[in-house]
Amino acid sequence: MSTDPLPETTFAERSRAQLARPFLRQAVPRATDTAVKDLRARFADHDYEGLRELGRQIRSRTIADLDGYLGQLVTAFAANGVQVHRAADAAEAREHIRRICREAGATRVVKVKSMATEEIALNPALEADGLQVTETDLGEYVVQLDGDTPSHIIAPIIHKTRGEIRESLSRVAGRELPDDAAELTGFARETLRDAFMDADVGISGANFGVAESGTVVLVTNEGNGRMCTSMPRVHISLMGIERVIPALEDLAVMLPLITGAGTGQLITSYVTMLSGPRREGEPDGPDQMHIVLLDNGRRALLGTEFQDVLHCIRCGACQNVCPVYRQVGGHAYGWVYGGPIGAVLSPLFRGQAVGGELPQASSLCGACDDICPVKIPLHDLLLRLRRQRVDADAAPRRERLAADLWAWAWSSPWRYRLVTRCVGAGVRVAVGIGLVGRLGPLGSWARGRTLPMLARRPFHARRDLDD
Ligand code: SF4
Repeated sequence: MSTDPLPETTFAERSRAQLARPFLRQAVPRATDTAVKDLRARFADHDYEGLRELGRQIRSRTIADLDGYLGQLVTAFAANGVQVHRAADAAEAREHIRRICREAGATRVVKVKSMATEEIALNPALEADGLQVTETDLGEYVVQLDGDTPSHIIAPIIHKTRGEIRESLSRVAGRELPDDAAELTGFARETLRDAFMDADVGISGANFGVAESGTVVLVTNEGNGRMCTSMPRVHISLMGIERVIPALEDLAVMLPLITGAGTGQLITSYVTMLSGPRREGEPDGPDQMHIVLLDNGRRALLGTEFQDVLHCIRCGACQNVCPVYRQVGGHAYGWVYGGPIGAVLSPLFRGQAVGGELPQASSLCGACDDICPVKIPLHDLLLRLRRQRVDADAAPRRERLAADLWAWAWSSPWRYRLVTRCVGAGVRVAVGIGLVGRLGPLGSWARGRTLPMLARRPFHARRDLDD
């Protein structure tokens, strides 16, 4: 289990800070709505539901025999001349990557966007070794310039205004850049080109690792993935062990699912397949290719009621539709993974004490289940984590007391009737004299909402409805 320190702030405190930024509450729903709309439009003429079911089957079959497929993957990588390193946790993964950089005599590193490298906090470790690390995905580059963290799996700077991005890039340029998206990206492209040319090591994640062929698959839209993995003399790919898929033909299902659910595209601009270092006679490619296989809590989920979360392909679609994420953004979740998938992964990877409150931050509406391209039953997992938290006595005392009282009151018909009558009468009085806004936490909830007057006769008492 994680040795992360206890967070200094709660989800509620972080959410309040995020809610104070009006831009966030406009930008996140706008951008995520576009992604969902594009997904529906692009796949309108395709059997998307059939594709989801195939995706679920592939992921389920793979994770059910994870060790078998990993064994095949490692053998195929070795046959391709790829050096494989296994990391039980984040510290081991960082150590492998630092050692490879040291042995390569590297001073400059370029990176492709990778949530796995965020998960292990790689950049600070490399920088502590004196390496110059440059993120080359535009969003990640801006995040790095600002000392910030990504707030969405696919769109790391979904929380930033164009003005903020312009300010960040203007600092690098040493002059005021124009407020024009094309000019800003043009400037970033030119600046990053030098970083690619000078880098000794390129680091990427892996969207998939194909077991039968020993291939790392990357899906990107900016072309930086190809530059990072082909120009430096050493390429290191950090891959979560669950990202293995059995065969190349599975990509016919998994690629449209990840690009469709992630960005609403039928296919991204670049799909890069890497099967080893440069071979004799080949004009380009790295001299060495390394894979670091990251466990970091994944294997412990096999055979548990949470195994299905290992099917995740990190497309970010569940974030796009989550009514909580859409209001508070990714930073409120306090770790690299936000939204429904973050609310499941954080307590599982980091423990109940660190991430245990996040499954409460859900309306359990099930929108995440409905959009997940590999049909992960996220809301079931959230409910199981809530139960686990209660069983572990990790819920705050007042929450447990309230739940005990609730259970006591509602587990006998006469107590249920008594309580609902008393509460109904109390709420009617409070609404009638305008007291609701001053009733502690209920008041905070009710401010900004019009609470309807409760009916005098509860629904189940209206026998006339039977007639
Ligand atoms: S849980 Fe499903 S929707 Fe969410 S990131 Fe993973 S694959 Fe995508």
